Amino acid sequence: MGAFAFDNSYARDLPGLYTPWHLTPVRRPQLLKFNRALAAELGLDAAALETPAGAQILAGNHLPTGAEPIAQAYAGHQFGHFSPQLGDGRALLLGEVLDREGRRRDIAFKGSGPTPYSRAGDGRAALGPVLREYLMGEAMQALGIASTRALAVVRTGEIVERDMPQHGAVLTRVAASHVRVGTFQFFAARQEHDKLRRLTDYVLARHYPELRAGSDPVLALLEAVCQRQAHLVAQWMSVGFIHGVMNTDNMTLSGETIDYGPCAFMDQYDPATVFSSIDRQGRYAYANQPAILGWNLARLAEALLPLIDAEPQRALERARAVIEGVEGRFAQAWLSLQRAKLGLASAQAQDEALALDWLSMLQSQEVDHTLAYRHLAAAAGGDEALLRGLFADPSPLQAWLERWRARLDAEPGTPAQRCQAMRQVNPAFVPRNHLVEQVLEAATERDDLAPFERFVQVLSRPFEDQPDAAEWGLPPSPEFRRTYRTFCGT
Ligand code: AMP
Ligand code: MG
Repeated sequence: MGAFAFDNSYARDLPGLYTPWHLTPVRRPQLLKFNRALAAELGLDAAALETPAGAQILAGNHLPTGAEPIAQAYAGHQFGHFSPQLGDGRALLLGEVLDREGRRRDIAFKGSGPTPYSRAGDGRAALGPVLREYLMGEAMQALGIASTRALAVVRTGEIVERDMPQHGAVLTRVAASHVRVGTFQFFAARQEHDKLRRLTDYVLARHYPELRAGSDPVLALLEAVCQRQAHLVAQWMSVGFIHGVMNTDNMTLSGETIDYGPCAFMDQYDPATVFSSIDRQGRYAYANQPAILGWNLARLAEALLPLIDAEPQRALERARAVIEGVEGRFAQAWLSLQRAKLGLASAQAQDEALALDWLSMLQSQEVDHTLAYRHLAAAAGGDEALLRGLFADPSPLQAWLERWRARLDAEPGTPAQRCQAMRQVNPAFVPRNHLVEQVLEAATERDDLAPFERFVQVLSRPFEDQPDAAEWGLPPSPEFRRTYRTFCGT
């Protein structure tokens, strides 16, 4: 069945950088969720895929015409420790398609069976984490944050053994590509410079074609990845997103968010927030993400050194200069997002302090991050009541609002226009943890997908008020907030 118009550049151009492999069929595939909007974007025949025959394809039981399943090799630093071989242990790249806009997109499975990279793992995925990845990716996309996305979720009719037995599932993941910092590290660690060169050329052609004509494409690539990733992490910070497992194998060259394992959005603003049960040192705490960004990009720079300059000392100096710029790139991206969130269209020197003081006020009064910005938009339009209701002690807010109003005097536009602009960047809805847990529990334990469907729908329009969905925008109980933990969910 020709469900996808495959054109597989990774398989074609990069032999030696992957292992051709096969899908492992599952017992009783059932299509639980299909992403029609994404299918349309990809130019797929949705009607054909939403059939029993389509479910066979999306489960990996029937290889679609043109697919060339491969397991990609990659390495990575996991919590700071280098693993020279990770790779697709429970994923397979089927191939690539060109979407409606001509962009090349990977079509990959997650949970499609063991590969040579699986080591002790079963190569499978559990339904809960797969649905979670679906929901998170869609939410990020709707928030305007680059992300891999899910095309489909199939329940396999098999049980996977985790802490507790769970329903197995296969996720179809769509990505700008699956090339990671860890992909470069894999070949750099083996000193396979020819493969490193081919991978670099490939990434330049696929993601940064405009850089190839320059005098120094490799260094320009490093700079461009630094820029995209700095912007991405700044966006995460602006919505309270905590990735949770920012290992170098979970950082893409394309600048898309990838790997929704233990990630979570924070409710009350606290920079020290860590949700992941395995992140005992808080390495990937909310406030550490910008530092980890720089650390991971330094690992990419190291991997690229032999291509940056044949003379090692010179290569190091040139790479170092780029990496030293990451902090500034992040700070600039962060500040420009904060300006927009505070309703500032122009730039003034005092803006950074205004934003930082706002945040430290949210922290000290344990205010909900999402609601604070959303209600600040209402305050810009003249209605301060909701915002005041978030603060136990009104006096610091009062003082801050006076500074903010004075700053707004220097801005163009009417209060109504400002309110409207702020509502476009300060979401009313993010995937709050207690709601994510509720909808996943209904789906996995009661076979009830309706709450999941509803939440996905609400999250697809995060910047609209949606009065009939008000309960999906409310924070959790303090008890839930104190005890919530996430798990990697492999
Ligand atoms: P992740 O935690 O998803 O970033 O995965 C880290 C590494 O573990 C990757 O090489 C995965 O392919 C591998 N892995 C994770 N879960 C499994 C599993 N169930 N079976 C085999 N390999 C796995
Ligand atoms: Mg990963």
